[in-house]
Amino acid sequence: MVPGMGEPSAECLFCSIVAGSVPATKRYEDEHCLAFEDLNPQAPTHVLVVPKKHFTDVADLARDPDAAAGLLAGVRAFVGQEGLTDFRTVFNTGVEVGQSVFHTHAHVLAGRPMGWPPG
Ligand code: AMP
Ligand code: ZN
Repeated sequence: MVPGMGEPSAECLFCSIVAGSVPATKRYEDEHCLAFEDLNPQAPTHVLVVPKKHFTDVADLARDPDAAAGLLAGVRAFVGQEGLTDFRTVFNTGVEVGQSVFHTHAHVLAGRPMGWPPG
């Protein structure tokens, strides 16, 4: 692991949710990740799956293979728990495409038909 990578940040909203100092509706948790409901859901199921360590985006996460695999395993565990076979997983990366929280998160959306390409 690169030194300094994955360190928690006191100013980070999702680090605060992982730490429990900001409330969230948790839907799944294991040693690597936490899944909680998005405050502004865009589908009947809309959770954010976040690594417990702090990374800024999916490219940063990919520098730590154990954490990256752990996050994907968390997505799989959540959809398995919910019995979801059809779902969309989105990693917004960068302001231009809509990233607003700079702690890596996988949006997992399901429960309605979805168009392509995305807006
Ligand atoms: P993004 O725009 O891809 O960075 O996604 C950030 C997501 O975090 C948005 O869908 C927000 O609705 C969601 N969000 C922001 N604050 C909270 C919060 N306190 N609890 C749950 N979801 C949040
Ligand atoms: Zn963070």
